[in-house]
Amino acid sequence: MQRFSANYVFPVTGNPIRNGIVEVDENGLIKAIIDPGSAPVELANTEFHNGIIIPGFVNAHCHTELSHLKGKTAKDRGMAEFVKQVKQLRGENTGAAENDTAFALADMYRQGTSAVADICNSSVSFEAKNKSPIRFYNLIEVLGLDPTRKEMIWERAQILQLIAEANGQNPVSIVPHSTYTLSKELWDLLQNEFSNQKLISIHFAESKDDIEFSTSNSGQLASVFTSWGLPINSIPAGTPIDIVKTYIPTTAKVLFIHNTYLTEYQLNEVKQHFPNAYFCFCPQSNLYIENRLPNIPDFLSHSEYLTIGTDSYASSESLSMLEQIQIISDNFPLVGFSQILQWATLNGARALGFENELGSIEIGKKPGLVLVSPFDFANMKTLSNSKARRLV
Ligand SMILES: [Zn+2]
Repeated sequence: MQRFSANYVFPVTGNPIRNGIVEVDENGLIKAIIDPGSAPVELANTEFHNGIIIPGFVNAHCHTELSHLKGKTAKDRGMAEFVKQVKQLRGENTGAAENDTAFALADMYRQGTSAVADICNSSVSFEAKNKSPIRFYNLIEVLGLDPTRKEMIWERAQILQLIAEANGQNPVSIVPHSTYTLSKELWDLLQNEFSNQKLISIHFAESKDDIEFSTSNSGQLASVFTSWGLPINSIPAGTPIDIVKTYIPTTAKVLFIHNTYLTEYQLNEVKQHFPNAYFCFCPQSNLYIENRLPNIPDFLSHSEYLTIGTDSYASSESLSMLEQIQIISDNFPLVGFSQILQWATLNGARALGFENELGSIEIGKKPGLVLVSPFDFANMKTLSNSKARRLV
């Protein structure tokens, strides 16, 4: 049995506990949470830290298989240019991709990440994930504008799903990449699969370019796809919201990723149609590609359904969840740390279906314990030099 204490413990499901103590067994299972304010406690064998103790993070959107692209793409060029760069770079050096994924996972774990919703376009990340203590939800992503290739794309996704399932106990879903990269025919194939999926994720309203392309088959993405010889009229007609409403069942649990250009009106429309919708912010990636953030105050009436992801090293300088929290906190100072912390932990766990074990410091859970230090106790928020480090 080990005991950990800090200036505050943030259980997430309750108020912060001053000088709280968390008792865990050798497997990290929480056995007791002690509030010294309410009862005198025996402090022997307690490891005290300056800072705060929080549960392990749940990263609701990442592509760990792109970890070899760290520092290789140009910043702030918009989505069309980003898509071009990733297509050119992603196939390079698969051996390095496997090694870099393993390094990235080790780093994410050290910095407090306990679970990840991870996009897979290949099996590059599977071996590293199998060896990692992090829990994953594998999201096998399909995309393709050429309708004649739909069967091949679909079969490839099903094979990847089988390989992912054979590689461990992590849940797996086959999911659409976005509203602008699947032909109608591919959507039709996928639609039949949606009723079997526990979770669907989709990149959504991420950039001006993708909304323009979904809505009118024009703009810079149309030029890029045409230059690759792809048909640009093969995607379903309509706005991004029309497309998801047409193909994804209203009862599905859907993780909408990015939402950078979603207005409050559109958000309410999406939430009304999909009561189980969750929304994921990846602020560092949005700044990298578009130099813009979602207008987070517009989302606060759906706070229970907000989550945070890091996206990949192709569009982010780090996979640190704490850095995402700091970007949100710096840009929207009226949003409190406790609220953002819930997005980065418990809400992500709920979105992934991992909430019985992860996401909050509660007896019987095994969320991992993370120290954040230093911490601004006067304002109860992180500081620009705050770091997250795993204790358990
Ligand atoms: Zn992504």
